Parts: sequence; C-alpha cells; structure tokens
Amino acid sequence: MSYFRPEIDAMRGYVPGEQPREGSKVVKMNTNENPYPCSPAVVRAVQTVLERGLQRYPDPMATAFRLRAGEVLGVPADWILCGNGSDEILTMLTRAFVAEGDLLRLPYPSYILYKTLAEIQGARSEEIRFDAQWRLGDDFTAPAPGLKLAFLPNPNSPSGTMIPPAEVLELAKRMPCPLVVDEAYVDFADDNCIRLVKECDKVIVSRTLSKSYALAGLRFGFCVAQPHIIEGLRKIKDSYNCDALSIGASTAAIDDQAWLRENVAQIRVSRARLAAAARSLGFDLVDSQANFVWCTHPSKQLQPIYEHLKRNGILVRYMPYAGWGEGLRISVGTDEQIDVCLALLAEALRK
Ligand SMILES: *Cc1c(COP(=O)(O)O)cnc(C)c1O
Repeated sequence: MSYFRPEIDAMRGYVPGEQPREGSKVVKMNTNENPYPCSPAVVRAVQTVLERGLQRYPDPMATAFRLRAGEVLGVPADWILCGNGSDEILTMLTRAFVAEGDLLRLPYPSYILYKTLAEIQGARSEEIRFDAQWRLGDDFTAPAPGLKLAFLPNPNSPSGTMIPPAEVLELAKRMPCPLVVDEAYVDFADDNCIRLVKECDKVIVSRTLSKSYALAGLRFGFCVAQPHIIEGLRKIKDSYNCDALSIGASTAAIDDQAWLRENVAQIRVSRARLAAAARSLGFDLVDSQANFVWCTHPSKQLQPIYEHLKRNGILVRYMPYAGWGEGLRISVGTDEQIDVCLALLAEALRK
C-alpha cells in the first residue's frame, strides 16, 4: 500500500543533469552553468550579510533586489516576484494556475521539468512539437478544454534557438491562458521579452541568476508580470522563500551590470568558436542564443561519443528525444575546456 497520492506514485520525478561529487576533476559542460566565478561584489555582499547576523527572518518580498532589478529592467518593483531559483517560480506558477485535471501546454523538445510540474498537480500536459526550424505553429495557441497555462523557454533548451519577441507577443495574444516565457538564457541572446509584459497581461517572464550571473549554487530567480498577477502569486508563495544570503548576493549581482556585460561577451565569443569548430567536425548545429550549443550528427550515433568524452573527464549532456532524434548539448566552457572537448569530439569521430 502506498501513502502517496496516485499521481505521485505514477510519476517518475525530474532527474537533473549529473552533478559529480565535490572535488572530482570532471569538467562540467552538461548543465549550462557559467564556467567563470561570479562578480566579486557578490562575495562581499554575502560577507556583509553574515556580519550582520542571520538571527532575523529575511524580507519576505526581497524588496532590495526588486528595486534594483526594476531599475535595470525598466519595470516597477511591484511587477517582480522573487523565488528560490527560477524552478521555484515555475512551480509557483503551475500551482497558481493549473488544477487537477487541467491542461498545461509546452513545446517539444524543451525543458523536461515543465511536464513534471504538471504531473505533481495531477494535471495533463500537452507537448507541441517545434518544426524543423524550431518554430511553433498554430497548434501551440489553439484553445483546448482545461488549458490553463503554457510554458515557452526562449531561448529554448536544448536547441538554444529563440522565437523573436514580436512573434512571442502574437502567440500570447492568441493564447487562451497565461504564457510563461522562461528566459533562463536570455542574457546571452540578442533580444528579450520583458517589454511584452506591459503590452499583454498574459505574458509572464521568468528569469534566473543561475546561468548568466554564475550563481547556480545560490538559488535565486524571479518573474516579471503585471501587478495583479504578482499579487495573486504572492498568496501562494512560502513566506520566506528567499533567504537573507541570497537576497544580499542577488542584489549585488544584478547591480553589477558591467560584470554581466563582460561575462556575456566572453561566453558569446567562445560560443561562436565552439559552434564553428563543431560544424567543421561534421556536426549539424542551429545558431544558439544561449550559453550552450546543440549538436546533432547526420550519420554518427551520439551516445558512444558522449561516453568517450565522459571517460576522459568531460561531461556533456546526451539527450535522446523520442520521435525527434538525439543530440549532444554542450555548455560553453572556458577556452581551455572547449579545446579539450573539441579534441575529444574529433577523437571520438575517428573511431
Ligand atoms: C536552468 C534552467 C532553469 C532553472 O534555473 P534555476 O534558477 O537554477 O532554477 C529554468 N528554465 C530553464 C529552461 C533552464 O534551463
């Protein structure tokens, strides 16, 4: 006999990308973390919080962060809600809008967590396939019984492709429910969808400090939406979902836009080099707007290539998508890491 709700027993649970033991020498190019350390201002901010002490509860709304982020993004602070990583934001959105038996829509292939979130609610999910150019057709916006929420990672993972903001606005307007634009990778892209939030209250933009701010270990994300949406979400949020250390650190991080610009510029240069070299090895790549590249191959099986890299200390993500095909998603590392990765890819292809 199980004590769990039937839908929990029925689900597999989300399996995050491999995290090697602390102190292991493996080079991680599998979960799109930033290969460089965060801004030194973040370290100083954490020290300041520690010196003040941790005996008090943190600010429930992380207002220091919201004020600074609002200035950076050009929205008022009450258009922002913070979370313990953007995964918590996605969880809150699903809990807020999707009830048991409802329908959640997501593109395919994309971030696998969305489906897990629907399963936890006992909701149904519907995967709408990208076309060969990684665009979405009318079926993504078509009304359907019980449809309450749609997720769109933009740039998408695993492809790194991006739907232009003007098209996202058209999707949102046609949508019968809110559209969450998951901008986890958008700082590496040419454009973003924040301005759409003002034009359409169905657009909810989710952001994270994990990737572009090099703070995956901190756990801090946020969403931008019209104030009546933020007000509703606030009711279902844990009172103290962001701790004092992460509020101090994230505020310092968003304040250091010079660090962000420099880091993003470096990653974009490295991304171009990695992509060009992978193409010359015979892989097929679409242009990436994120901090990773998606490599498919016209003839080679990719799992043995992934295994060869892993045996030699480089971890990338091998992703087989049923009915779609397989690929290797390789996070942009340091120049040195990219060189080792490329040499191993070349070696594996010669086998
Ligand atoms: C990494 C990632 C997230 C999660 O970010 P956290 O803030 O670390 O929880 C959300 N969405 C997508 C598409 C991601 O790749």
